[in-house]
Amino acid sequence: MPPQLYTRLESPHKPPLTALVVGAGLGGCAAALALHHHGHTVLTVLDKVREFGRLGDSLGLGENALSLLARWGCDVSQIKRIGNQAPNMTIRRWSDGKALATQPLMDMAGYIGHRGDYHDVFLGWVRERGIDVRMGSEVVGYEDGEKPVVVLKSGEKLSADIVVACDGIRSLARPLVLGVQDDPVSSGYACFRAFFKTTPEMLEDAAVNKYMREDCVNFWIGPDKHLVQNTLRGGEEFNWIITHKDDGDIPESWFQPGDMDEVRRLVEDLDPEIRGIVQRTEKCLDWKICYREPLPAWVSPGAHRIALLGDSCHAHLPTSAQGASQAVESAAVLAKCLNLIGDSRDVRIATRCYEKLRFGRTRQSQANGEDLRDRWHNVLKDVDENRVIDPEDVKIKNRWLYSFDAEEDARERWKDVKELVKDELMAGAISPLC
Ligand SMILES: Cc1cc2nc3c(=O)[nH]c(=O)nc-3n(C[C@H](O)[C@H](O)[C@H](O)COP(=O)(O)OP(=O)(O)OC[C@H]3O[C@@H](n4cnc5c(N)ncnc54)[C@H](O)[C@@H]3O)c2cc1C
Repeated sequence: MPPQLYTRLESPHKPPLTALVVGAGLGGCAAALALHHHGHTVLTVLDKVREFGRLGDSLGLGENALSLLARWGCDVSQIKRIGNQAPNMTIRRWSDGKALATQPLMDMAGYIGHRGDYHDVFLGWVRERGIDVRMGSEVVGYEDGEKPVVVLKSGEKLSADIVVACDGIRSLARPLVLGVQDDPVSSGYACFRAFFKTTPEMLEDAAVNKYMREDCVNFWIGPDKHLVQNTLRGGEEFNWIITHKDDGDIPESWFQPGDMDEVRRLVEDLDPEIRGIVQRTEKCLDWKICYREPLPAWVSPGAHRIALLGDSCHAHLPTSAQGASQAVESAAVLAKCLNLIGDSRDVRIATRCYEKLRFGRTRQSQANGEDLRDRWHNVLKDVDENRVIDPEDVKIKNRWLYSFDAEEDARERWKDVKELVKDELMAGAISPLC
């Protein structure tokens, strides 16, 4: 949407509600943007790191997220420009690269780009709106109440009408606000991930360059493992991610170095046209895929004014390609609910409606990622090399996720969910989400 056509919504509250956002990742930025669009005042977005690097590798943003961001006045062409430009992706057989199915890229991740680059764009949008982002501000405590408080490591305390905790998969808000001690549950899988700039030598070497000459996205699927490959910037950057069975006990971290000897063993039977570049890669990360059991609540139990959002309450598997997009949807719904309450004393109704409106949808999108991984890992098990695989068995089926308008859904279901929440608050017993 051209910025001149953008109008920020007016808050129904006089004065507008104030909000503190904890975590300036993609979820925290989305929360700030959504709250701002819906007329609320974001006092500050706090992040514990002193500065952001270009961290992570490829991440997908779906149309379901981009259409919300565009509605909030964000120039989403910035995202589309820096993402992978391939129209299609191909799903291939692990052993020889035979194409099993080809489908539009929009069926899966939508826009695949570098997480760090996307994050930069999100931060730019937040700063463009004059929203304060405070780096080096680690939150170590929360106090629930009619004016909830966050406590910083420095001892400073900040308060607002609502606190939105977007502090990621290793959230501190989860135990401190919800009282949940949920240790990571191993999914039984891990990823080796590598992201690097292609060199002139690589580009000239026919043994490794087949998939680095232009923007492309390919998947090699095999029994109990799959490899995702994509390029960025027309082949200047190259990313591969191998998901494989792993019950090992490595820490859950974005930065754990991987063992390239193990990777080389893992790809010994891989299609030679991609194996070469994987085996030649100097270093990779070992990324344990952990998940959390679904939470029975996303909101503080006392005054209901601290709400969790993003990976802190609905982390996704990489095959869902929806972690960031679902955080944007959640941001939209929380901000919308705060706009729908007529009285600022009803924040608790908004937060409890938010979790009820969002829970089912995030569970479906999480399950979609698990289903895809299992289909990919099982379809070639015990089958003859010559058997024709039905493309439908391996295709990514994410389209239904993209046409969803989270704000519209909240508006449509608001009345019924609000009545339910009011009854539960009156009875003093909020029913658990699961
Ligand atoms: C370093 C890193 C690399 C990643 N790489 C990938 C990737 O390659 N592909 C992919 O699909 N997804 C990746 N992700 C996950 C992806 O960014 C999220 O799934 C998605 O964007 C939802 O984001 P979120 O804001 O909920 O969580 P996150 O993106 O994890 O952001 C959480 C933010 O909260 C901050 N924070 C945490 N605790 C505190 C605290 N106590 N006080 C203040 N601030 C705090 C963190 O510094 C971080 O900036 C990565 C996340 C991180 C942090």
